[in-house]
Amino acid sequence: MSPTRVLVLNSGSSSVKYQLLDMGDGSRLAVGLVERIGEESGRLKHTPAGGDVREWTGDIPDHESALKAVSAELAKDGLGLDSPELAAIGHRVVHGGRRFTAPTVIDDAVLAEIERLIPVAPLHNPANLTGIRTAQALRPDLPQVAVFDTAFHTTMPESAARYAIDVETADAHRIRRYGFHGTSHAYVSRETAKLLGRAPEEVNVIVLHLGNGASASAVRAGECVDTSMGLTPLEGLVMGTRSGDLDPAVIFHLMRVGGMSADETDTLLNKRSGLVGLCGDNDMREIRRRIDEGDERARLAFDIYIHRLKKYIGAYYAVLGRVDAVAFTAGVGENAAPVREAAVAGLAELGLAVDGDLNAVRGDEPRLISPADARVAVAVVPTDEEMEIATQTYALVMGTKGSGNLT
Ligand code: ADP
Repeated sequence: MSPTRVLVLNSGSSSVKYQLLDMGDGSRLAVGLVERIGEESGRLKHTPAGGDVREWTGDIPDHESALKAVSAELAKDGLGLDSPELAAIGHRVVHGGRRFTAPTVIDDAVLAEIERLIPVAPLHNPANLTGIRTAQALRPDLPQVAVFDTAFHTTMPESAARYAIDVETADAHRIRRYGFHGTSHAYVSRETAKLLGRAPEEVNVIVLHLGNGASASAVRAGECVDTSMGLTPLEGLVMGTRSGDLDPAVIFHLMRVGGMSADETDTLLNKRSGLVGLCGDNDMREIRRRIDEGDERARLAFDIYIHRLKKYIGAYYAVLGRVDAVAFTAGVGENAAPVREAAVAGLAELGLAVDGDLNAVRGDEPRLISPADARVAVAVVPTDEEMEIATQTYALVMGTKGSGNLT
């Protein structure tokens, strides 16, 4: 029997999230997180399927010791990294530029290309590379696959992907709209089609991925035609800590008049803006609680968040021409009924409405929340980026899907 397990790694600069999945039956064997790598006291949280959470804190100086610690935890349940049942390791890679349009088996040329993209993803790609190199050193014999956050968006037409700036300057610096959260948008748009009982090629879907980071995408017949994040994840919707869209001249103003440096404006817009900048909280649960207590700042933050979201629904409705479904996903999209209700309120003319009772139901399964006679389906479709990465990785190494291309 050929091995069926896939380890999915999502490596950040000081953290590694991981899941071990069995593609034979689609089960999740273990999930975990290593945090504070290289800091004073590292922390590992490991949850084996059907078992108790195991946690420990200690010295985790680098990614190598983090992965070794993960392997040691997995080994306690007979699932260690040296297991012959491991078929591959799938890595989430944030930026694949224009050339990685599909999951790709990692070799030296692929590593070099991920490295070449560091200028457009300075925070993410270096950490992803470290994770890959560390995993390769531990299991050099095993196929390692890169699954790119940007890949799903590479089908965007030039009219959506290009900024209206001088073409030579843009090209010289690889400035264009790449989009992110692609693994989630791909998975959720397919699952939405499944929920409607139709093939992905038959439906047009607006996917609203609302987590701490948030993005919308317009998916026509299974292909992304527009998405709200751009060169970086800063563009688009109001997020937990990011501003999303603003007049670019705000930045010149902050620098010239406010005396802020480029790094300071970067930090302001990425870390101290969005919901947290508007009201001090970025957790939608807390914001709703404050609104219920009559807090005006929380109310305004919520209204600004919804206003932007509604504008994107309208914009993507126009981009697609015909919309079959609007799908809400990620932490806010899956859990915050008031966000879903407010986002489509007043859009009955577009065929969009939410049924109050259905919207109030909680659950882990994809479900419709629009009235039975609605022209456009509104759905809650839980995302599962790790499962999608594992599925794509496994399909690639088993040869059931063509190899990724470094075009
Ligand atoms: P990310 O992966 O971007 O870090 P998630 O998709 O896990 O984020 O979403 C996290 C966010 O989801 C939290 O910041 C919070 O705002 C929101 N959230 C989680 N659970 C709930 C809930 N029960 N009700 C409302 N919002 C929630």
